[in-house]
Amino acid sequence: ETIPANLAATAARHPDRDALVECATGRRWTYAEFAAEVDRVAHGLLALGVGVGERVGIWAPNCAEWTLTQYATARIGAVLVNINPAYRVSELEYVLNQAGVRTLVAAESFKTSDYRAMVEQVRPSCPALRDVVLIGADFADLPRDGDPAALAAIELSADDPINIQYTSGTTGFPKGATLSHHNILNNGYFVGELCGYTEADRICLPVPFYHCFGMVMGNLAATSHGACMVIPAPAFDPVASLRACERERCTSLYGVPTMFIAMLAELGEHDLSSLRTGIMAGSPCPAEIMKQVIDRMGMTEVTICYGMTETSPVSTQTRADDSVERRVGTVGRVHPHLEVKIVDPATGRTVARGEPGEFCTRGYSVMLGYWEEPEKTAEAIDAARWMHTGDLAVMDDDGYVRITGRIKDMVIRGGENIYPREVEEFLYTHPDVLDAQVIGVPDQRYGEELMAWVRMRPDAEPLTAEAVREFCSGKLAHYKIPRYVHVVDEFPMTVTGKVRKVEMRAAALDILD
Ligand code: ATP
Ligand code: MG
Repeated sequence: ETIPANLAATAARHPDRDALVECATGRRWTYAEFAAEVDRVAHGLLALGVGVGERVGIWAPNCAEWTLTQYATARIGAVLVNINPAYRVSELEYVLNQAGVRTLVAAESFKTSDYRAMVEQVRPSCPALRDVVLIGADFADLPRDGDPAALAAIELSADDPINIQYTSGTTGFPKGATLSHHNILNNGYFVGELCGYTEADRICLPVPFYHCFGMVMGNLAATSHGACMVIPAPAFDPVASLRACERERCTSLYGVPTMFIAMLAELGEHDLSSLRTGIMAGSPCPAEIMKQVIDRMGMTEVTICYGMTETSPVSTQTRADDSVERRVGTVGRVHPHLEVKIVDPATGRTVARGEPGEFCTRGYSVMLGYWEEPEKTAEAIDAARWMHTGDLAVMDDDGYVRITGRIKDMVIRGGENIYPREVEEFLYTHPDVLDAQVIGVPDQRYGEELMAWVRMRPDAEPLTAEAVREFCSGKLAHYKIPRYVHVVDEFPMTVTGKVRKVEMRAAALDILD
């Protein structure tokens, strides 16, 4: 099945239910209105000459037009290229050229970002770029009425590419994962199944649409179940998110752990009694945060998802009735219709249950490939179509998976494999430590040495290397004790809220110099 066929079926079943609400402007669409509006935008894109397989870029914070463009491009078989709204000219230029974007839908401006000016700046160096449609200006002027026969005549196949999503760039340069209708529609559907969605659900989406968290786990999970998409604000704002949950009686709320931390700090008197479930994903959730999300926000069925852009994205998810311990300590069990194996990265052999190894997955969710990067695709997907995620994981006897780090972050010191996560978790137990990240730095004698980056609690004295050594001594094996300690206010982060260890490793070289 294709995304447009799925949307049409939902709209036929639930024409009068809310499909989309944009809180910032109060605009709202029922499913019948939303499906009709998607068709009108599709006609507009056809009038610009957008053809099947052509790349249409979208560069905007969350808004209704983002969602309309998502479904309209799928409607006409064009390939939507998600562009991170935090990108600046050099990144924009890279993506437009890498994906060969011919039509760009862009916001005019947002906060301090003047998108219109940045687009004009890169235009001369983006030869493929022909049309720019500005949201708030040209978007509304797109020709809305076209020949219905023109839309009907477009032949779509579920295996066609319809989306290029760039990875977060946590471990290096972002790569363009190319995804089909089949990939992301099914994944969105199963995410919705595991959240127990029905047409009565209303999902608050403060997570970015340019990322699979918003457009697949949010939008596609919603429309495949007749649920409503609620956009609280163009970009994450804790108070706007809470207010949207209250006013729109949302039943579900999404976020990465840092977003939930921010919302918990603003809870106040917001009435969140309608909340039942939600999704936390992207990075590990601290136990205390999970407990508060359940107890203070009432999200008793909240689930944890693990996945990556390349796998549409979700591979494992906790279930609504899993214990709190499992929703904190694990990323749940494998999704329906997917295969998973945990292998020794050196030999490729499947390890025993309980042993760490690389998480590999195969099935409908694995991307078509990285856009125009066949070598990188071949490194990630083997001849038997197994996706090698680069994540280290352990699966227990009951099938619950724990993510223990990334292969790229593993440190080898004097022949010993060290998983930074283990050292980080120990450092968290220090009363003065707010947050800790551990990286490997080059060392003449051992090949690599450990360096801890530490954020101190307010009013705490900065930790010294000696103090850390004393704290760890006798509790961690000697080779896991960080040799260097670097106290900072903030870690370098990606816009999706992940710590960028690549940047820390580069900075460490200067610090040690
Ligand atoms: P890049 O591939 O460019 O380095 P990235 O891998 O961070 O960036 P994404 O595809 O957005 O880009 O993120 C997927 C990664 O996020 C996974 O491979 C995994 O390392 C991490 N991740 C996702 N969900 C979880 C989770 N629930 N717990 C721990 N880590 C997670
Ligand atoms: Mg990745």
